Amino acid sequence: CGIVGYVGSDKTLEVLVGGLRRLEYRGYDSAGVAVIDGEGRLATAKKAGKLVKLTDELLAHPINDGGTGIGHTRWATHGGPTDRNAHPHLGDDGRLALIHNGIIENFSALKDELLAEGYTFESETDTEVAAVLLGREYRATGDLRSAFLGVVGQLEGAFTLLAVHQDEPGLVVGARRNSPLVIGLGDGENFLGSDVAAFVEHTRRAMAIGQDQMVAITADAVEVTDFDGEPVETEEFDVAWDA
Ligand code: GLU
Repeated sequence: CGIVGYVGSDKTLEVLVGGLRRLEYRGYDSAGVAVIDGEGRLATAKKAGKLVKLTDELLAHPINDGGTGIGHTRWATHGGPTDRNAHPHLGDDGRLALIHNGIIENFSALKDELLAEGYTFESETDTEVAAVLLGREYRATGDLRSAFLGVVGQLEGAFTLLAVHQDEPGLVVGARRNSPLVIGLGDGENFLGSDVAAFVEHTRRAMAIGQDQMVAITADAVEVTDFDGEPVETEEFDVAWDA
């Protein structure tokens, strides 16, 4: 339901949780984050219920912030509002994390295909299918951007997707179809959000992402392409916001 992504300094968790708080007005039943931690490992925390459940979990099991991460509030469509069904979802080797707004219409056919190949699933969500597919594509390509394009090309329905991989710290990839995603431009840091509320505390400089487009953000660069990987032009705009 709400999505935040961040690459920059080691205040990732603060940015993610702050962004999710700003997106609370949309309603949600679960919340979660994934960051590449200070040791370069993927770390996640996710909880059904209000954001305070997630922040309590982060107090109980602190994550050593590493400067790259994604955050999600969920409005369950496939699978009940449980800790297990909360996002992020991991690839089968636990090296990548993915979050999703929307509905993947063809998830059941894709899941059958993956089950037949021997993959297993932890949740009842449509989303986890995209996470497991991304792990498979990553092993084939060894590159998060191309693996991610390989996944979105197989999906039908409505999605905003963000993903991180621990072998490529400092990078968040995102894509959208029939569901919103906006870039926030910072100085030595960049943001993604399902709406500008996700990052407006940090920057008023934004860029829209068009239908069927992918984005890759690092601390210093933002690249937008279509689903064939061809660069597309994007225009910066100023967020008008009365905070
Ligand atoms: N369909 C996904 C799920 O049920 C995403 C829901 C959302 O947009 O929050 O987990």
